[in-house]
Amino acid sequence: LTIPLVSDCLFCRIVAGDIPATVVRETDTTLAFRDISPKAEVHVLVVTKEHYVDVATLAQSDPGLAAELLETAAVVAETEGLLADGFRLIFNTGEYGGQEVDHVHGHVLGGEPLGPMVC
Ligand code: 5GP
Ligand code: ZN
Repeated sequence: LTIPLVSDCLFCRIVAGDIPATVVRETDTTLAFRDISPKAEVHVLVVTKEHYVDVATLAQSDPGLAAELLETAAVVAETEGLLADGFRLIFNTGEYGGQEVDHVHGHVLGGEPLGPMVC
């Protein structure tokens, strides 16, 4: 079976409402919620409701949905007040990319100067 085991995926469980999260925006296809361990003043994760392993898989499988995820990230940046001073949007991908949760998610980081990109 290649169908992902939704119950084993942390972010699928958050999407399903099985695990609580502080949701800041929801669309038909995407969800944005605060990171449990924020690395900046503002740290929001944006995910597709449908399970894709990483951003490369998503972008190649469904570029329209990838665009919707980007739009949600941009709207979150706006509603969190990050557009004037700027922000960072990163997708850790795979082992070398330091991805820990294998369900595509963008990190929206901001609210303070973030310094040079270390990763
Ligand atoms: P990654 O390293 O995969 O790019 O990022 C995973 C992120 O998920 C980390 O920043 C981590 O703090 C966050 N995270 C892990 N478990 C939970 C959780 O149960 N709830 C929320 N809201 N964030 C989580
Ligand atoms: Zn998932």
